[in-house]
Amino acid sequence: MYSGAKSLFYALSRSQFLKRLASKYGMAHEESFARRFIAGETVDEAIRAARSLQARGFLLTLDYLGESVATMDEANAATQEYVRLIDVLVASGIERNISLKLTQLGVDIDRATCIDNMRRILEPAQRHGFFVRIDMENSPYTAITLEVFETLWEQQYRGIGIALQSSLRRTEQDVQRMNELGARVRLVKGAYKEPKSVAYPKKADVDAAYARLLRVLLAEGHYPAIATHDPVMIELARAQNVAPERFEFQMLYGIRRDLQQSLVKEGYRMRVYVPFGTQWYPYLMRRLAERPANVAFITGNVLREAMHRKR
Ligand SMILES: Cc1cc2nc3c(=O)[nH]c(=O)nc-3n(C[C@H](O)[C@H](O)[C@H](O)COP(=O)(O)OP(=O)(O)OC[C@H]3O[C@@H](n4cnc5c(N)ncnc54)[C@H](O)[C@@H]3O)c2cc1C
Repeated sequence: MYSGAKSLFYALSRSQFLKRLASKYGMAHEESFARRFIAGETVDEAIRAARSLQARGFLLTLDYLGESVATMDEANAATQEYVRLIDVLVASGIERNISLKLTQLGVDIDRATCIDNMRRILEPAQRHGFFVRIDMENSPYTAITLEVFETLWEQQYRGIGIALQSSLRRTEQDVQRMNELGARVRLVKGAYKEPKSVAYPKKADVDAAYARLLRVLLAEGHYPAIATHDPVMIELARAQNVAPERFEFQMLYGIRRDLQQSLVKEGYRMRVYVPFGTQWYPYLMRRLAERPANVAFITGNVLREAMHRKR
């Protein structure tokens, strides 16, 4: 089921027909289904959601959704959007923390373009005291993402961090390397369908690796982010008795809001990943793949919306 669901939603994420359909209905109204997981299509909507989370004691990271761009123009446009987002966030008083993906910034075009674009974002980000997290994408991008990260690190950018996935066999070494550098790691299980040659096919092994890496990061890492909704992993993190200011928990917007709130109440740092923008379809498909029960949630919503329209 684990990899079956991932394969199915991977295929669906490539369906242009479903994409058009979902894009038409998913965000149309306040109650439309995609809004459960995506803060909105505009920066203003994202800021509104961010303000409300901030008021309830959450930390934030904003992700302007987009990935897999194929042309220089698209990569440029995404870079400009991030630069603009930095200005808007500074003016709005929202926490200065953003997440981004390298395939959004032209890594498929070439590495130099991507590094250039990253620098165009990091210059104003650094000036304004932002933290910029590079999300980790599927395994064809692992090595290049880490190379770009290390190049930027060598160029003395320090307000940056990376995400690493426990699903990948190589991650143990990558965690070690990041710890040696003194870089901040966000530990995730991994949202992509991966071949057996590079990733653990069984969920139990992905979980066991997460538990191992979590211990290493909490003992030897530099302000690690434990990014999971899994209560077992959260309990394990707590059991390490690390001071709450030396690490943070992270969860996705709209997922396990109960658990998010209770961790804040207990005095832990809890960062919510707030995605927004018009390119939300692949992100939504990954959320469905992680938990097929979400399909029922969305189907229910779509049906209700359809009935509502008929009335
Ligand atoms: C802040 C943050 C940033 C992330 N960044 C990346 C990244 O850069 N690269 C990457 O590959 N992945 C990223 N992910 C996704 C991650 O890899 C997992 O796919 C995702 O978090 C689900 O795994 P889990 O750790 O929550 O554990 P699971 O074992 O999958 O889930 C544990 C429990 O969490 C709840 N849950 C999990 N997912 C959902 C969902 N979609 N809807 C509803 N409930 C759910 C369920 O109650 C489930 O039983 C990120 C996740 C977070 C929280």
